[in-house]
Amino acid sequence: MKKALLVVDYTVDFVADDGKLTCGKPGQDLEEKIVSLTEKFLGDDDFIVFPVDLHEQDDQLHPESRLFPPHNIRGTEGRNLYGKLQDLYDAHAADIVWMDKSRYSAFAGTRLEILLRERGIEEIHLAGVCTDICILHTAVDAYNKGFSLVIHQDAVASFDPDGHAWALRHFANTLGAGIL
Ligand code: ZN
Repeated sequence: MKKALLVVDYTVDFVADDGKLTCGKPGQDLEEKIVSLTEKFLGDDDFIVFPVDLHEQDDQLHPESRLFPPHNIRGTEGRNLYGKLQDLYDAHAADIVWMDKSRYSAFAGTRLEILLRERGIEEIHLAGVCTDICILHTAVDAYNKGFSLVIHQDAVASFDPDGHAWALRHFANTLGAGIL
């Protein structure tokens, strides 16, 4: 089965201590795992996408404006990838698709599904943050579109430990995901 890796929202704003909407240490602890996972998919010549949240300054029409402080604003350092993942991306930008997204799901308003279908990809591997927000919404969309799912549990994290644990159970028990 052809597979793709999606590393979701592993950016400074979502991971670093001074990030605008950070997961903090649980997010930072994923750095090595996400880098090695991305290297493995690069080595296997598999399709890799980095879906990255993109917001505009003072966008009052965006629903997240009422829910969260401003984050991942266009042109800010908060949208850089966290730590060594930025270095890896810089070295392999030709082999990784950077995909701006404006909602939790990487499928919402993006060309992700078209790119996956063009390549005959049936299995989506998920890593990144937050387990119970953007990973969850991306996983639900993938399930509804008929993709198989694999969640790398050492490569996802949340600021909310209860939400993280619940989402992992949901992936396995309700979405039929493989948990690695
Ligand atoms: Zn956002």
